[in-house]
Amino acid sequence: MGINKIQFQKGLSMAKFMENYGTEDKCQAALVASRWPTGFVCPKCGGTHHSTFERRGLHYWQCSMCREQTTAICGTIFHATKLPLTRWFLGMHLLSQAKNSISALELKRHLGVRYKTAWLMKHKLMQVMTGREESRQLSGRVEIDDAYLGGELPGGKSGRGSENKVPFLAAVQTTETGQLFVCLTKLEFTKDAIAQWAKKSLRASANVVSDGLWCFRSVTESGATHERTVTGGGVACEIPSWAI
Ligand SMILES: [Zn+2]
Repeated sequence: MGINKIQFQKGLSMAKFMENYGTEDKCQAALVASRWPTGFVCPKCGGTHHSTFERRGLHYWQCSMCREQTTAICGTIFHATKLPLTRWFLGMHLLSQAKNSISALELKRHLGVRYKTAWLMKHKLMQVMTGREESRQLSGRVEIDDAYLGGELPGGKSGRGSENKVPFLAAVQTTETGQLFVCLTKLEFTKDAIAQWAKKSLRASANVVSDGLWCFRSVTESGATHERTVTGGGVACEIPSWAI
């Protein structure tokens, strides 16, 4: 179950957030809609016929086929939590809106919970977010470029030639609805490393557009197509340190 399915758009105001997720009922409804968008599906047998009941303040679904009883938080990171969903949702909102991440101490202050609770929550949420990004495969039109992180030594070369910068592959997919997926991967620009990256990070349907750095051609080993555009050289883009 991915918390990412619940939309925490960038720039969502706190007022709007409270309007959408300010009560346990609203959080529960968002969770149900994200988990079973077309109605209840039994996690054990896949059946859809069910009955519902309340027990100890929790809403239960019981499958009519296998009698499995489940709640909306069963099998999610909220399972067995003592914290109300409103705290978790606020934590997710704060983490997803922060430009430079948010410390466990800040989270503790905003949520009114103990430091250890805030630390554990942040850790759990970051794990889910990282797992989601690691398993994401880009598709459609994907632009790739080489990028570099790190300062320049006096007299050092800039961009690709610099010996004191960390090389990254920057891949950007733009969807038809205007969503932007960015994938930054630390790697050496060799034919094999690019091929390996492509197999892991690209769907076979991807159409890769690059400026033609020679090793980028090996993205086709993943089944993707490759289109070469010549940008006329210049300095490769630099990644701000907060982005990593
Ligand atoms: Zn069932």
